[in-house]
Amino acid sequence: MSDFKLLINGQMVAGDSTMSVLNPATEEPVGACSRASKAQLDQAVAAAKAAFPAWSQTSIEDRRKVLVAMADAIQNNVTELARLLTQEQGKPLADATGEVFGASAFFRYFATLDLPARVVSNDATSRVEVRRKPLGVVGAIVPWNFPMILMAFKVPAALLAGNTVVLKPAATTPLSTLRFAELVKDLVPPGVLNVIADANDLGGDMTRHPDIRKISFTGSTETGKKVMASAADALKRISLELGGNDALIVLDDVDPKETAPKIYGAAMQNAGQVCIAAKRIYVHESMYDAMCEELVKCANAAVVGDGLEQGTQMGPLQNKAQFEKVLSFIESARQDGKIIAGGARLGDKGYFIQPTIVRDIAEGSKLVDEEQFGPVMPVIKYSDPADAVARANASIYGLGGSIWAKDSERAWDLAEGMEAGSVWVNKHADLRPDLPFGGAKFSGIGSELGEEGLKEFTQVQVLNMAR
Ligand code: NAD
Repeated sequence: MSDFKLLINGQMVAGDSTMSVLNPATEEPVGACSRASKAQLDQAVAAAKAAFPAWSQTSIEDRRKVLVAMADAIQNNVTELARLLTQEQGKPLADATGEVFGASAFFRYFATLDLPARVVSNDATSRVEVRRKPLGVVGAIVPWNFPMILMAFKVPAALLAGNTVVLKPAATTPLSTLRFAELVKDLVPPGVLNVIADANDLGGDMTRHPDIRKISFTGSTETGKKVMASAADALKRISLELGGNDALIVLDDVDPKETAPKIYGAAMQNAGQVCIAAKRIYVHESMYDAMCEELVKCANAAVVGDGLEQGTQMGPLQNKAQFEKVLSFIESARQDGKIIAGGARLGDKGYFIQPTIVRDIAEGSKLVDEEQFGPVMPVIKYSDPADAVARANASIYGLGGSIWAKDSERAWDLAEGMEAGSVWVNKHADLRPDLPFGGAKFSGIGSELGEEGLKEFTQVQVLNMAR
């Protein structure tokens, strides 16, 4: 018997099989979860396809009302959803609560947007308009680090534009998403929103599916490449939000004591499992030692534990594979640099890793060149700011980046030169629903959020009439 069911064609249905979802803090099961078969994925796509003609004909005003009702449903159940999110994902309850509230706010934001026709001419000789039409069935694929908020990057935008959706969370974090599905299922006509869960085996079938017109994918760069390849046959639209290796550059005029806790937070939030976490910290040589000392204080003071326990600031890594991967990054950093805080697993149950700071490390080391996606921070010394920007840019990734300085105008000028989709000054990872978010280079294709993100769920149609 499964506690968590799939949403297919307006009904909560049991999966053709079940799977156990583990709490990464205890390694105990959180609940039995329905697992969809390929046939059930096909049913979900068929339901979405059948629901599309009527849904796409509804007025945008009506669709906005649906999004507001969904936002209310999330907000009214924030306590339950956040608890579930902490249990399956590991993050502290306060962070999970923030994420669920954020998801509700993103639905509310999209409910304020419009897709008006652009009237190019309407005179005695011609009428020409540029319209935005929905695409059809959208497949939304989400990773395990932020199941709720990343779902809310995609679902409200797709629905507002008049598409129908098949949503798939990651195999290790499907529960809050399935509970969300149950809470909102009666707010949309059957088939408009379908939610399936898999054991990491149906993503390829989704991206190949001939009846899905667009894939909105968030996940790793490696999987993103597969999505792109398998979407080719059906000439499917894709948007890819992929990995990052964000550089954070500290100029020579900051106060290390004041800045270190902010940098620490930018790197260690969600145990470092954030696509736009600060993953390489470049510090000017004039304050390198002082900054390292301050960062060590932050790491040593952090309360790491079960996210459900009050006072926990950092939870476990989300799953065993990621836990082992991050430990391997630590081992390579031990060879390439000097570990000055943390550097080991914490306890013997749960996927906990001590917040780890590594100094005297540079490019050429795995911890600097690759995406660690965990609580391990390399602190790199530089002397020339222009050289720091060049080193920041010498990466396949280009998701985010930031420059920190008292003289913020100087930082702004340097920020312009960073090859990244989002660049911040004196902050990092400031995501807002009204700003487009997307990556340069290997960090992705297209963007989500904002009006730009909404438009990616549409097809342009030019209506052009002679009078
Ligand atoms: P992943 O690529 O392993 O999985 C992501 C999703 O893709 C899961 O739902 C998975 O089941 C599905 N999937 C697996 N194989 C597939 C296939 N062949 N075709 C289609 N879908 C498939 O990523 P992950 O390990 O869950 O997430 C971590 C990665 O995601 C990191 O690299 C991180 O930087 C990135 N990420 C990016 C953003 C962003 O917005 N740019 C946000 C969060 C996470």
